[in-house]
Amino acid sequence: GTAADGPERIVVIPGDGIGKEVVPAAREVLEAVGPDFEFEEADAGDAVKAETGEALPEETRDLAANADATLFGAAGETAADVIIPLRRAVDSFANVRPVRAYPGTDALQPGTDLVFVRENTEGVYAGHESEIAPGVTTLTRVVTESASEEIARYGFEYAAERGSRVTIAHKANVMRTTDGLFLDTARRVGAEYDVDADEALMDALAMHLVQRPEEYDVVVCPNLAGDVLSDLAAGLVGGLGLLPSANVGDERALFEPVHGTAPDIAGQGVANPSAVMLSAAMLLEYLGYDDAGERVRSAVTATLESGPHTPDLGGDATTSDVTEAVLAKL
Ligand code: ATP
Ligand code: MG
Repeated sequence: GTAADGPERIVVIPGDGIGKEVVPAAREVLEAVGPDFEFEEADAGDAVKAETGEALPEETRDLAANADATLFGAAGETAADVIIPLRRAVDSFANVRPVRAYPGTDALQPGTDLVFVRENTEGVYAGHESEIAPGVTTLTRVVTESASEEIARYGFEYAAERGSRVTIAHKANVMRTTDGLFLDTARRVGAEYDVDADEALMDALAMHLVQRPEEYDVVVCPNLAGDVLSDLAAGLVGGLGLLPSANVGDERALFEPVHGTAPDIAGQGVANPSAVMLSAAMLLEYLGYDDAGERVRSAVTATLESGPHTPDLGGDATTSDVTEAVLAKL
């Protein structure tokens, strides 16, 4: 699917908890800017498992595997049974997490504006753990040249399109063979691009991110490092209600807020819809609707700056108050 070849098929999976409240809000935003999208709504998560015995019904999986893009909310206890197969269904190799401090939101580090591009298929997540003797366990870590090349290329392309720079995160001084391959491959790919790049040991990077996040732009990471560092950076901007993400494949992709089901506030109608709306903006850009994506991001950003604010940002507005404000700005 590109902007040129007919209606985009978008699968919408609200899931559980606040997913049911914020995903419909984001769908309204998509409908407002995407004149010829076709939406299909599908179930996944705890509620559908209770009914049918399956957290990710075959039908939902197939819809996502054949859609141009999928917008997902959150799943509760069944999260791992839902999100891992869904990411596989869209053949995603990159997890992309922009972390940005928005004016009006009391971020710990107001200068933060960076993007994690995390390898999403291997590392320790593809490894085999075993107990080789009582009290003795091991883990195999998998790093391939092909997956390293794919993620590095995605990161450098992303930076090249936006005129930004790349930092390659690694721990090749200890994991000489595995992260050595990751680093060498990323260097080789980076040399093909007219993009400034540097390298950082992931532990030192964690410290620098806390102190001077404004120095970073696009951070290309192995799987586990990306998982930990992107959550660390999320803490710098404060507020899971603000952070979008994408799981990107060559043909399709899955967009989801970083937050989960937020059981503490679910059902009250006060969840912040910004994260999933910003995920929808990423979806639009992935499909080639750059202007529409930018319009959504601007409307969400302007609403964050001026209010109304949901309780997580210190206000007393509801999800629908915020949604109306964003729609009005669109
Ligand atoms: P899960 O197991 O589904 O991840 P959780 O208890 O970890 O559930 P999260 O959804 O990860 O909850 O949220 C963590 C905290 O951040 C909760 O206190 C929640 O209320 C808050 N939070 C998360 N997302 C939002 C949002 N969109 N709006 C407001 N608050 C949110
Ligand atoms: Mg959580």
